[in-house]
Amino acid sequence: MHRRTFLHAGAALGLDGLSPHFATSAFAAAKITPGAKAALIVVDVQNCFVEGGTLPVKGGAEVVPVINRLAGAFENIVVTQDWHTPGHASFATAHAGKKPFETTKLAYGTQVLWPDHCVQGTEDAALHKDLRLPTAQVIVRKGFHQDVDSYSAFEEADRKTATGLGGYLKQRGIRTVFVTGLATDFCVAWTALDARKAGFEAYVIEDATRAIDLNGSLAAAWKQMAAKGVKRIRSAEIG
Ligand SMILES: [Zn+2]
Repeated sequence: MHRRTFLHAGAALGLDGLSPHFATSAFAAAKITPGAKAALIVVDVQNCFVEGGTLPVKGGAEVVPVINRLAGAFENIVVTQDWHTPGHASFATAHAGKKPFETTKLAYGTQVLWPDHCVQGTEDAALHKDLRLPTAQVIVRKGFHQDVDSYSAFEEADRKTATGLGGYLKQRGIRTVFVTGLATDFCVAWTALDARKAGFEAYVIEDATRAIDLNGSLAAAWKQMAAKGVKRIRSAEIG
């Protein structure tokens, strides 16, 4: 779905004066050009998930300038927001005797319990103030069903309820998604895995994400993503 533009890559590295052969064989990593059939998905870059928020991801705000830079390379941009009801089933406070980061059984299986976070309409749930995505076309809000969490931007945690994003992307002819945002090992990973499940080519742009890393969850997520054909790249590879 993407074109690899070797000469462009050489130019980007300041190798214009060198022969194309030298530039491609010796140094330049091929750049990935997203094109009209690709979308950037910016997952949950909200106040709740950065320092000062209710469920901060270490270094979470550091993804903002990286994503702002990446946005210029994409014709299609989707933004997501975790968007919970007050007293949502994923909150530890909704379960007597439970603390954040413990688990419980919900109707659809095991659920990690979180501090109250990203409650609909609160400043905590707003997108980060420095996020600059004027060309983004759609905001997908997820996790708004009281009894069902949704890490994934495609499918809620009951693994049955669709958010509609898969249909939206398909109807717009999009074949490839590049996933960024917070957090690598939860909402980013589940979004990338569900993108594969829905038939999209999927990349995670690693330096445009930060992780929670709860009990080895980051390594487990990368392993699972690799097994399902999610490609792991760096933002410098997009051009
Ligand atoms: Zn949540």
